[in-house]
Amino acid sequence: VPHWAAGFFRVGEDGELEVTPEGAEGPSASLFEIVQDLRDEGRPLPVMLRFPQILEARVVALNEAFRRAIKKYHYNASYQGLFPVKVNQRRMVVETVARAGKPFAYGLEAGSKAELALILAQDLHPESIIACNGFKDDDFIRLALMGKKLGRNVVVTLEKFAELGRVIRIAKEIGVEPQIGIRYKLKTKGSGAWEESGGEAAKFGFTTPEIIKAVDMLAEAGLLGTIAMLHSHIGSQVTDIRRIKQAVREIAQTYVQLRKLGAPVRYLNLGGGLAVDYDGSKTAFYASANYTLEEYAEDLVYVTKEICDGHGEPHPILVTESGRAVTAYHSVLVLEVIDTIRPPGEERLEQPKDAHPVVKDMFELARSISAKNYREVYHDAFANKDTVQNLYDLGLISLRDRAAAEALFYQIARKTLKLALELDYPADELEDLQKMLADKLVCNFSLFQSLPDTWAIKQMFPIVPLTRLNERPTREATLVDITCDSDGKIDRFIDTHDVRNTLPVHEIRPGEPYYLGVFLTGAYQDVLGMNHNLFGRIGEAHVVVDEHGYEIERFILGEKARRVIEKMGYEDDELAEAVEKLVRSSKKLTPAEKGAFMELYARELVGYTYLED
Ligand code: PLP
Repeated sequence: VPHWAAGFFRVGEDGELEVTPEGAEGPSASLFEIVQDLRDEGRPLPVMLRFPQILEARVVALNEAFRRAIKKYHYNASYQGLFPVKVNQRRMVVETVARAGKPFAYGLEAGSKAELALILAQDLHPESIIACNGFKDDDFIRLALMGKKLGRNVVVTLEKFAELGRVIRIAKEIGVEPQIGIRYKLKTKGSGAWEESGGEAAKFGFTTPEIIKAVDMLAEAGLLGTIAMLHSHIGSQVTDIRRIKQAVREIAQTYVQLRKLGAPVRYLNLGGGLAVDYDGSKTAFYASANYTLEEYAEDLVYVTKEICDGHGEPHPILVTESGRAVTAYHSVLVLEVIDTIRPPGEERLEQPKDAHPVVKDMFELARSISAKNYREVYHDAFANKDTVQNLYDLGLISLRDRAAAEALFYQIARKTLKLALELDYPADELEDLQKMLADKLVCNFSLFQSLPDTWAIKQMFPIVPLTRLNERPTREATLVDITCDSDGKIDRFIDTHDVRNTLPVHEIRPGEPYYLGVFLTGAYQDVLGMNHNLFGRIGEAHVVVDEHGYEIERFILGEKARRVIEKMGYEDDELAEAVEKLVRSSKKLTPAEKGAFMELYARELVGYTYLED
């Protein structure tokens, strides 16, 4: 926990996971207690816990890191970051970020018309930048330029050359001087999963010949003075600081060159990419980062200053668009384990007298396995398992014999794994055994709704039981969700050295809830989630912690079944009417059964889409 938690979470002395939104010295609260209180209030699981204080702390940390770096290197301009709302457009997130960022003139970035519409209504510092990225139609440009005319500090970032002519035309129509940003296609690529977002083959950005063309075109129109920002983005989650330094070097050189061409660029924007150390390994591994926020800020400031000073150009206002690093920490997804699926073979089996010879052989193998012969025994058992399957397909072995052979195979596999793990270098072929023999914990949630990146891009999040952390876990498990999709599973977990196929968990005690917290889920997951199997958005609690304890400031109900069904084009009253017709015409149901069924149907339409008992 201390490796990835960035000081926001810790294990308490009683073995419960605690949140410390103001850091280790500040107040704390047990996540287990919060969840139990929510349950006592009748709130169903799964639930998302959001901590606005963590969000604020991240905005402040980012801005303070740049302030310190600017002071340290005597940089002559400020930092004015932007929060790209696409990372999480939830009202609570955007409003909290805007509020926390106001003293720093922190701004917001829109990537679409809808995002701009919600951003224009936010309470920002007058100098905060509102950047409009993404592909634009005329109305997007119009909305942005009207925002500028209304007095907002709007920058229209051009993603492709064809947008330039339209911006000039619409600005003339509206009678406003635009502030233009140019997205530059850096040669430098990021590192990690989003490497392809940067480099020459990237989807967005101007090539160097296009930049020259844009400068000439604007100069001709007498609008060279409107180029305010140079923008670039080398991809999200850049794990290696060397790539970032290289990118800053390239973009700062381009800034200097643009200034030499007469474009009065004042904002230098490095985009997103500031990585989150999801696995706590502090390496360039794709779920990590080999640098800190401090190092990131210092490198941006230092490299830019060095290059500008070398060319006698003024220091630009530094801009970044960090989304992941700002939002990831603030939310925790809480899942309840509702069932355990265990591979067979944990119980002792008695050998029946009339067992098939292959089954008898399996009993013999199970009895004879030892540290000396376990690999041979395992190979023999594996071959027998195949033989039993073939015999079964041909109708030559009974279901009872097949069941015994299968249970014995798992028994032998378990012993093999135990013996192999006692060795320093277990054979590679045995690595899969751990996964095969793991329990499957059925958790009441949809992976596609709540952790879409786990499915889509194999993203890993820290997952931790909320209780019993002072007790050694005795089981290994993978997690499965309640969708009817075998992809709805988690079988890759963080580790400080490698990826684990299983998660160590406790033996679940009957009648005692066992909650798992999935951490660092505040970036992208909320907005990418989908309604696979019609599981809807989950409920969320906004929790504030102070020295008196914690307060659930707000609870937002999850989507009701009706809402999710309506998204598919149905009307709930039409559905209810059709079902009622069916019920009324039924000859089999008694009037009381008809009433009970209609009541159940009506209740389910307004119910939570997840399992409720
Ligand atoms: N800016 C732009 C243009 C992006 O495309 C992205 C995301 O890929 C971001 C900012 C946010 O990146 P991150 O979440 O890595 O900070």
